[in-house]
Amino acid sequence: MTDDTLLDRALVRLEEAASHLHIDQDVIEKLKYPRETTKTRLLIRMDDGSRKSFLAWRCRYDDTRGPTKGGIRFHPESTVEEVETLAFWMTFKCAVMNLPYGGGKGAVRVDPRTLSKSELERLSRAYIQAFAGIVGPDRDIPAPDVYTNAMIMGWMADEYSQIVGQVSPAVITGKPIALGGSLGRNDATARGGFYLVDHLARELGLDRAHRVAIQGFGNAGQFYAKLSAMAGNAVVAVSDSSGALYRAEGLDVEKLIAGKGAGSPVVELAAELGATVIPADDLIAVEADLLVPAALEDMITADNARAVKAKVILELANGPVTPEADAILAERGVTVLPDILANAGGVTVSYFEWVQNRQGYYWDLDEIHARLLKIVEREGRAIWTISEDRKVTMRTAAYIHALGRLASAIEAHGTQSFFSS
Ligand code: NAD
Repeated sequence: MTDDTLLDRALVRLEEAASHLHIDQDVIEKLKYPRETTKTRLLIRMDDGSRKSFLAWRCRYDDTRGPTKGGIRFHPESTVEEVETLAFWMTFKCAVMNLPYGGGKGAVRVDPRTLSKSELERLSRAYIQAFAGIVGPDRDIPAPDVYTNAMIMGWMADEYSQIVGQVSPAVITGKPIALGGSLGRNDATARGGFYLVDHLARELGLDRAHRVAIQGFGNAGQFYAKLSAMAGNAVVAVSDSSGALYRAEGLDVEKLIAGKGAGSPVVELAAELGATVIPADDLIAVEADLLVPAALEDMITADNARAVKAKVILELANGPVTPEADAILAERGVTVLPDILANAGGVTVSYFEWVQNRQGYYWDLDEIHARLLKIVEREGRAIWTISEDRKVTMRTAAYIHALGRLASAIEAHGTQSFFSS
């Protein structure tokens, strides 16, 4: 391992994409560093009467293409470096989908499971009190991320509205539907990935009925399993942090989701489903056509990339494949559909929520799905074409695609050659 930071490693992908484009050095200089990262301490009253302070950040990485957009994470191990790297990824993800946004991210270093519900509400409201001058419907629009949810977004939108003195639902997305949330947001991440695979199935060499292995059985993983099984595919393996299940003929996804919803880790459902229990780490090596990492970052590394049997990987998680593993997979002919494209359905429907809040007119579910499908197919096809034409991986193609859009916007303000001539 080198001394490179997380952001340094993310920037490797920017440099790789830049080497394929004739872009001005100004563009790289602008995208190499976050524009603004604010750090503060949130001081809240605890239920026992004491006061406690929590470190919090908000990063607006780049806003050339529009207000910054990105989730808020409540996690005991959050760091500024992680926040800035996630904000960098959001900048590229929004550009990939051609959403009129830049990239942002926020976090509070806290284990929310140690807080009471009232303390959690006070902390959420304190976040917005601290960052009210930074967020805003035309400036920076947060959303849920790890350990934050719709109710927290509702508290935050309410706090912001009270501070500015007007109802401002468009300041935040991922809200409860009753408070201006969008239909279709709950399964949007998985649905975007599902539409992508479906659209490119022939090019990817996937049969209409293929075998799927899913790592991580939370929001993204469960919805992907459901959509894929409904389309006639066999979900042969799933895992959560307790372990993994395998059944060559396919698992009963409905029973799996019901059991998980009732609080059982997947391994406890083995007998009911007639499945075999295997170690969680072995999931990536099962016989399947499509592998869907939907858990955490850095799961497929130089140590295990050679064990992957699937011919396609759909990155529903952010950053599940390391740059070293990327190289091994490319050499072995495994196609990786990269996170900034594969899981961008979530931010796309967040964008729909913001549009609906601003126009005060709400779309039905069919309209949401049709609009998502159109964007996923358009951008997925464009990236596939770049990958074929330039003989690069889908990840590099996605970065080239996004960087082209970012560069056009940055260069439109004038570059060195313009000002020095
Ligand atoms: P989640 O917390 O609902 O689910 C995560 C799942 O991963 C849980 O089932 C957990 O048990 C499992 N897990 C943890 N460690 C594991 C391990 N070592 N092996 C196997 N499983 C393990 O989270 P989520 O919202 O589904 O997000 C999952 C990933 O997708 C994250 O990387 C997230 O950033 C990304 N993502 C989610 C969304 C979204 O809308 N939910 C959008 C974009 C990206």
